[in-house]
Formats: sequence, structure tokens, C-alpha cells
Amino acid sequence: MKNIILIQRNSSSWRKKASLVGLFIFVAGIILGVSPLLTQQQTSPPPLTIEKVKDNIYLIKGGSGANCYFIAGPKSNLLVDAKMTPDSFLAMLAEIQKISAKPLLMIILTHSDGDHVNGLRGLNQKVRLLAHRKTYEEMLPAVEQTPELKDILPSETYENSQVLDFEGTRLELKNFGPAHTSGDTIIFIPGSRVAIVGDLMFYGRDPLIHKHKNGTFFGYLKTLQAMLNYNPEIEIYLSGHADPAGRQEAAGLIDSLKDKEARVRQMIEQGRTLDEIKSAFGVQPPPAGSPVRRPPLIEIIYQEIMEKK
Ligand SMILES: [Zn+2]
Repeated sequence: MKNIILIQRNSSSWRKKASLVGLFIFVAGIILGVSPLLTQQQTSPPPLTIEKVKDNIYLIKGGSGANCYFIAGPKSNLLVDAKMTPDSFLAMLAEIQKISAKPLLMIILTHSDGDHVNGLRGLNQKVRLLAHRKTYEEMLPAVEQTPELKDILPSETYENSQVLDFEGTRLELKNFGPAHTSGDTIIFIPGSRVAIVGDLMFYGRDPLIHKHKNGTFFGYLKTLQAMLNYNPEIEIYLSGHADPAGRQEAAGLIDSLKDKEARVRQMIEQGRTLDEIKSAFGVQPPPAGSPVRRPPLIEIIYQEIMEKK
């Protein structure tokens, strides 16, 4: 089996602009989806840890930003997502070297949120950067405002699906339409019965739907179902903010979301207002002065039901 065959990235500057990094955090943080509050909470992130999930697939927790994953090939490494700060990104690369001292060939981005991509500002080597076309488009405004960020833009994009042969490991990239954002990628690794799903699996808390990135609740439901149907042999789902989960957890998440939808629908039929429905679900108003107001899931479900009426 050979290396991935894809178009070559252009070999423009990949130099780190360290002195300007601080300046970019605010712009990139907002546009790529991290609140200013979150970008300031970087004083003492939890320590980075790496654990083997299965075969050649590893989970990297801690640091600043979401869970990342890497796949150790015989000749090189492939990374999924890039933490939120250059420090955590570079520390992660150093930790990976302790387990697999190979060059980094490629980074796949699961979506455009800052806690998954902003660490790329620390990228100081030439690697291929792959994401869904919509993720590229969601990252573009930040780059257009701040040209020094251009090196964090994906160098390769795909549309609905793409199959890669990474040094003998088959990766099937799929986008099932807008869900968490408009450019979510699920990476199925059928040989290991594993899928890396970015922010499509939350449990113990409500999923986030980024309306400002054309995410949708009904799309999220559809994507989760499509994820289960696409390959019934997948046993482990790896996500950005939760521990590895199985099919049961994924199916349970779908059921709980459908249940919420049914309850909201019922209350709408009973003539209850949005505020009444939110309070029935125990949704509290956001704390005064919170910098970015994102509608809670119940409100998004309500709006999407009403839009379809
Ligand atoms: Zn996200």
C-alpha cells in the first residue's frame, strides 16, 4: 500500500509568525468560533496525555483545545485536528514524537471551530492540510482579515466523500450535510472499526449546533443516523469533547435528541411560548455580560420546528 495520493499543497511560506500570534487570537478566535473568554482561559490547560485507542490510532487529550487523534503509519504520522493554541499544538507534536518518531505528513480538520484549528498558527513545517470545502470557506474570512493566518487554510478540500490510503490504513472521509457546522468531516477507519467524528458526538451535555456556521439540529440528527448506517461494523466513535463511545451511546444520543424534539413539538401544539418551553427544560438565561450569546439547543429545536411549519 502506498502513501496517500492527492494533489500537492503549494509550497508557499510555512514560517511561524510567532510575534504576531497574540494579535491574531482575538480575530481568529471569534471568527473560527471560540469566544474571547475562552481564548483567555489559557493560563494552565490540563497536561497533554496520549493513549492508544486501537491498532495505530491514538487519542491526545489535554492541552488547550479539543481532543485530537493521530494515526501512526510505517513512514509518517497523520494528525486529526490541531488544538487551540500554538503552544498546545507544538507540545502535542513533541509528545507524538515520543510514541512515533516519524514526520508529520498530513493534518485532517474535522471542522472549523477554533478549539480544533487555531493551534495551526504554530505550524512551522510543510504538511498537507485537508478539510471539507465548507470548513475552508468558514476559515476564509478570518484569513482574509489577517493575511498572516493564510498558512492555516486547508491546502486540499473535498466535497461529499474522499477515500485515502494512508500507508496501508484506509480512511473514508464523509460529510453528510450541515450538522454541528456546515463542513463536518467524519473519518471512518473500517480496518479498525473506528470513526473519528469531531464534534458530532456529545454526551452528558447538549450537542452544540453552530447556527452562524449553518449548523442545523435536523441536519445533526440526520448526520448521526447516517453515521451509524454508513458502516454498521464501526464499534468506537472518537470525538472532540468526550471519551471514546460505542454504537449504543451514539444510538442513545439520537434517541435523546428525538425525545427532546418530540417534547418541544408537543408543547408548541399546546400553545406554549418559547420562554415557557425553555423553562420547562430548565434552560437558564445566559449570565449577564457573557460575551457571546449562543442559543441553547432547545431554542434551536424550537426555531427549526417553527421554520418548517
Ligand atoms: Zn466544534
